[in-house]
Amino acid sequence: MNNNIKIAIIGGGPSGLALAKLLLLRNCKNVKIYERDVTKLDRIKGSSLDLHQDSGLRVVRECNLMDRFVELSRPEGESIAFTDMYGSFGYRRPSLKMMSSGKPEIDRTELRDLFLDSIDPSIVEWDHHFLSLENKPDGQIEISFKNGKKVLADLVIGADGANSKVRPFVTDVKPVYAGITLLQSEVDQPERDCPLVNSWVDKGLLYALGQEKMIVAQAKGDGRMTTYATFKKPESWHQSIDWKDRKSVIDTIESEYTGWNKHLVDIFDKSTEIIPRPLYVLNQSWPSKSNITIVGDAAHVMPPFAGLGVNNAMLDALELVIALDKNTDNIPKAIQEYEASIFTRSTLAAQETKQAQEMLHSTDALQSIRKIKMGSFAFLSSLLPLSINTLNYITDLIGYTK
Ligand SMILES: Cc1cc2nc3c(=O)[nH]c(=O)nc-3n(C[C@H](O)[C@H](O)[C@H](O)COP(=O)(O)OP(=O)(O)OC[C@H]3O[C@@H](n4cnc5c(N)ncnc54)[C@H](O)[C@@H]3O)c2cc1C
Repeated sequence: MNNNIKIAIIGGGPSGLALAKLLLLRNCKNVKIYERDVTKLDRIKGSSLDLHQDSGLRVVRECNLMDRFVELSRPEGESIAFTDMYGSFGYRRPSLKMMSSGKPEIDRTELRDLFLDSIDPSIVEWDHHFLSLENKPDGQIEISFKNGKKVLADLVIGADGANSKVRPFVTDVKPVYAGITLLQSEVDQPERDCPLVNSWVDKGLLYALGQEKMIVAQAKGDGRMTTYATFKKPESWHQSIDWKDRKSVIDTIESEYTGWNKHLVDIFDKSTEIIPRPLYVLNQSWPSKSNITIVGDAAHVMPPFAGLGVNNAMLDALELVIALDKNTDNIPKAIQEYEASIFTRSTLAAQETKQAQEMLHSTDALQSIRKIKMGSFAFLSSLLPLSINTLNYITDLIGYTK
C-alpha cells in the first residue's frame, strides 16, 4: 500500500474505527477520522452488538485486539428468550457458561473504546461534522465541516452511517423503506423500574412477538436496558406524531399494543426519550469513483433483524484495506474491487435480514422461532433453561472459567 497518501475517514463508528486501525497497522502515516460527536465521552445510544466469528470478530483479531475484546465483551449477554404477546415463554436459553454461542455481545461504547484506546488520540478529530466535499484540479479532495474547517485528502472514505452525507458524492442510489418502523428508547434503572421484564431479559435479550409486531428488551453492560417496539407502518407514519409530547407517545404505544402483557408495554412508560426510526435498506451497486468510497451502513444500511449490520460494516473495513494493499498505487482499482465484493456480500445480508424481518413480524412468529431453535425437539423447550442452569451450577461448583 502507498503509505503516504492522505486518507480521510468520515465517521468514527465501528467501520471507520476498524478501518483506521487496520490502515495504521499497515504503517499508513496520514490517516485521520473526522467524527461528528463533540468528544469521545458522548454517549452512544442503542443496543449492544453481537460480533460474529467470520466477520466482526475476524476484524478484531486482525486488529490484534482480541484479548481486550474478551475483557470488554459480555458472554452472559448471549442469553435469549422469546415470549408471546401475553408474556408466555415459547423459547428460553440462558447463556451457557462453559461454551459460548460464538457471538459475544459488546456495548457500542465499549466497542468504540476498544479501538480508540488502541490508536494515537490525535488520529480522531472530534466535533468535525462533515458537510460537503469538492474535487480539486490537482486530484485532491477538499472536505468542509460544519465548524468551518476545511481539509485536503487524496482518498475519502465515508463511514458516516445510515444517513450518510458522503454517499451522495459517490452515488445517486438511496435507501428504500423496509416497511417497519422501530421505536427506540432506554430504561435507566430496569431493576427498579421494570423488575419482571428485567428478570426475563436475564442480562441478555428478550423478544415478545405477536400480531405482526415485537417488543424487544436488551441488557446493556452499564446496567441500562435498551427497548424497541417494531411494527408495520407506512414510511411517513412517524410524522403524524409529536414525539416531544410524552403523553401522546405513550398513548400511541399503548394503543398499538392493546391486549399485550402490561409489564411489557409499561417498559416504554419507564423509558427515557422515545425515538422513532423508520428502517431502510440499501443493497444496490453503482459505478465506482476513483478517490472516494463508502463503508458500513453508508454503503449498505439494513434493518437490524439478523444482526448483520455491524459485522458487515467491520468486514468492509478489512476488505477495503486488503484491496488497497493488493493494488498499491492504483486506488481506483482497489475501490472497484472492494465495492464489487461488498455488493455481493450485502445482497446476501439484505436477503437474510428480509427473511428474519418477515418471520419475526409474521402471525406465527413464535412457532417459527421454536421450530428454528429446537426443530422436532420443540416439545422439550421448557426443559432447556433448567438443563443449562444446572450445567452452569456445576460449572460454578468446579470453578471452571472460560
Ligand atoms: C435500532 C438499531 C439496532 C441495531 N442492532 C444491531 C444489532 O443488534 N446487531 C448488528 O450487527 N447491527 C445492529 N444495528 C446496525 C448497526 O448499528 C450498524 O450496522 C453499525 O453501527 C454500522 O456501523 P457504521 O460504522 O457503518 O455506522 P455507525 O455506527 O452509524 O457510525 C457512524 C459514525 O459516523 C458519525 N457521523 C454521522 N454523520 C456524520 C457526519 N456528517 N460527519 C462526521 N461524522 C458523522 C456518527 O456520529 C457515528 O460515530 C442496529 C441498528 C439500529 C438502528
